[in-house]
Amino acid sequence: MGKVSVQTFLEENKDYLVRLTSELCSFATENPPGKDFEPCVDFLQGYSESLGLKTEKIHVPEAYQRRYNSPETFGYPRFNLLARWNVGAEKTLHFNSHFDVVPVSDDWKTNPFQPVVKQGKLFGRGTCDMKGSLAASLFAVHALKACGLRPAWNIELSFTADEEIGGECGVGYLVKNKLVRPDAAVVCEGGSGQAVSFGHRGVLWADVLVRGVSAHGSNPQAGVNAFEKGIALAERMRALEKEFRRRKSRFPLDRPEFAYPTMTLGGVSGGGSKVNTVPDRFHFTIDRRLTPEERVNDVIKEFNTIIAEAKKKDKTLKAKMHVTRGFDAGITDKNAPICQIAKKAVQTVTGKNATLCIFGAFTDLHFFTGIAKCPTIGYGVEGEGLHGSREFLKIRSLVETARVYAEIMMNSTP
Ligand SMILES: [Zn+2]
Repeated sequence: MGKVSVQTFLEENKDYLVRLTSELCSFATENPPGKDFEPCVDFLQGYSESLGLKTEKIHVPEAYQRRYNSPETFGYPRFNLLARWNVGAEKTLHFNSHFDVVPVSDDWKTNPFQPVVKQGKLFGRGTCDMKGSLAASLFAVHALKACGLRPAWNIELSFTADEEIGGECGVGYLVKNKLVRPDAAVVCEGGSGQAVSFGHRGVLWADVLVRGVSAHGSNPQAGVNAFEKGIALAERMRALEKEFRRRKSRFPLDRPEFAYPTMTLGGVSGGGSKVNTVPDRFHFTIDRRLTPEERVNDVIKEFNTIIAEAKKKDKTLKAKMHVTRGFDAGITDKNAPICQIAKKAVQTVTGKNATLCIFGAFTDLHFFTGIAKCPTIGYGVEGEGLHGSREFLKIRSLVETARVYAEIMMNSTP
């Protein structure tokens, strides 16, 4: 009867779940810089406590924030919230969601922070990424409580800052300082529908700075053009793409094209200051995504080798790569109980087969698998337009995701 009543509760209270999501979206937690984090956390604390959860509001020390975050976030304090339901079980299961959202652009047709329901979808900034999933995790607890059910694990929820800028003051802070030590975890994004992710690709972000010598535009021979040198260097790096075709991952990726390493050059680039001046500096960024088989240190070496070879060929080239972020893929053993429990939960709720895959983008999951050595899966609400001006979630999926979470909470063995 338990399952039926959770399902019934969720179906009957669907509108409440949509309202809860909308209310969360009304906090304009744009990051950077990281606005309204505290009021959002206070709201979550109030709601969690109304469910009988024990909460812990965590303020990240300013010095820590200054160490890890860029200056645009300074003056915007970072908070995280933990909410616990200890039932005296042997093991603890953790659910994590981030409450920060990417900044909005001007082309939203409606107020992005006042979500609108249209044809079974909820439109608004943060609906899909990822306040809907956050609401679903809390509402799953609400449903179990309302149905008088006791989970098979101690349940621990975290609502965290800064996923959109790297997570160091969010999940990174909790995990590195051992404020959470779960036996298994669910990151509430990075898989949806029939796909449960058991990891995600790795990443390297770097900035390449090329230095030249400025000169008058009428006399370019007198200078060294940093832009032209930089373009030539980027062209050498682009040649890597041929090599990528030979490095297909053996892991199942959520999309076939993600089974290969990928690279985006020049996401940010620039340098020169005037049309009639030979530019003495030019920089461009590298966004390189790693398959689970690749190691970030090898990838760094690969780029440095290209730079060194280019310098051998061109004695006037002055270039240096600065790594801004990098980590290997986050991976959980596919046979870990949490993978099988999650897969089964999705099958029970949707009535269709579920698959385990590796997510092509990255989430905060790698903090759990890499630093906390905690088996972790990714699963959340289905939607589209993440980071765009038509972001939405599917309301059907919102209800089903809450049910999937409730199922996972009720089963500690596959
Ligand atoms: Zn997200």
